Amino acid sequence: MSLMTESPSTTGRLPDAGGHFGPYGGRYVPETLMTALLDLEKAYTAARQDPAYEKELDWYMRHYAGRPTELYFAEQMTAKLGGAKIYLKREDLLHTGAHKINNVIGQVLLAKRLGKTRIIAETGAGQHGVATAAACAKFGLECVVYMGAVDMERQALNVFRMRLCGAEVRAVENGQRTLKDAVNEAMRDWVASSRNTHYILGSALGAHPFPMMVRDFHRVIGEETRRQILEKEGRLPDEMAACVGGGSNAIGFFHPFLDDPGVRLVGVEAGGHGITRGNHAARFEGGRMGVLQGCRTYILQDDDGQIELTHSVSAGLDYAAIGPEHAYYRDAGRIDYGYAKDDEVLDAFQFLCRTEGILPALESTHAIAYAIKRAPEMDPSQILCINLSGRGDKDVASVQKALNEREAAS
Ligand SMILES: *Cc1c(COP(=O)(O)O)cnc(C)c1O
Repeated sequence: MSLMTESPSTTGRLPDAGGHFGPYGGRYVPETLMTALLDLEKAYTAARQDPAYEKELDWYMRHYAGRPTELYFAEQMTAKLGGAKIYLKREDLLHTGAHKINNVIGQVLLAKRLGKTRIIAETGAGQHGVATAAACAKFGLECVVYMGAVDMERQALNVFRMRLCGAEVRAVENGQRTLKDAVNEAMRDWVASSRNTHYILGSALGAHPFPMMVRDFHRVIGEETRRQILEKEGRLPDEMAACVGGGSNAIGFFHPFLDDPGVRLVGVEAGGHGITRGNHAARFEGGRMGVLQGCRTYILQDDDGQIELTHSVSAGLDYAAIGPEHAYYRDAGRIDYGYAKDDEVLDAFQFLCRTEGILPALESTHAIAYAIKRAPEMDPSQILCINLSGRGDKDVASVQKALNEREAAS
């Protein structure tokens, strides 16, 4: 039976054996990487059936990463907005500052099972690089992180954090010298090194099995949210929202709720300066189907298939492609998508600091901006859950700069 004709309620079976979510996903890689991907898929499937692996994963999630994270009732924010009851899932409280560590620990434990001694990763804002460097230090693995030279300059503090943990950070000088170019470089490395090296991809993107595997490692976010909201409210939320870069925090948050039609799911993309060519990173606003870095999905590209420039105030959402599973559920009408613009994000950042004393990552702030608009439209008897994917310490300098520029312009 083809998965393309199945209803989205059969979530447990997606993707199909070839890694397809309907027409999206797949495994578009050079022949030289097929063996590594097939070995990885086999090892992953075996690990998930092995109670020893599950036990080890659970142990590190609790005692190293800091799970479970709080589902926090944002009472002041709720009162100020005067609508739905707002809960924040506090992934910002995790070790290294964001949800990224969930996936990194899962994959490092897998790499150990595979007998790999060297880890490579790509990073844009540096959060995935920091999580990977930390886990490699912890497990005594060699670690090389590819990062665009432009990003290294913008995120100098994260470069230093990675180096402190013993990682080698390699500057990528090709193309736009940002995330996309870093992914290309990491894939090039892996083609030559897969015998002893595991590539820890940082989002629910790339070739199969990565989108499925990364999603599974972040499902814990949604599973905990479900248990916690049932404990606190005795029912499921009416709506849930999360920011969407590659899509890993959002799909992990949403996945355990896909079969609950009463729960509306909303992904928030980066609207940048507004939806005009080259000024945003909202793939569902003007993107179309194509293949990029291993998978078929929605991509911001021009008429010739050249990848378009993207812009967002938050480096972690600044990418031209979206995870293939998001494209599938968007077509199916199960997940809705919107976007928040840089200006709204700067306002939302200050709003959350002032009302709750929480400094959100600029990525996560896109979902906060959505909540600020959405909650007042909802009834006080309703519940809105927001995934706070990371903390904003890394962003304080760029927020200060952006606010100064905005003031100077006004
Ligand atoms: C990396 C990052 C994101 C974007 O990645 P997704 O795969 O879309 O989750 C979002 N929030 C934070 C805090 C991040 O570090």
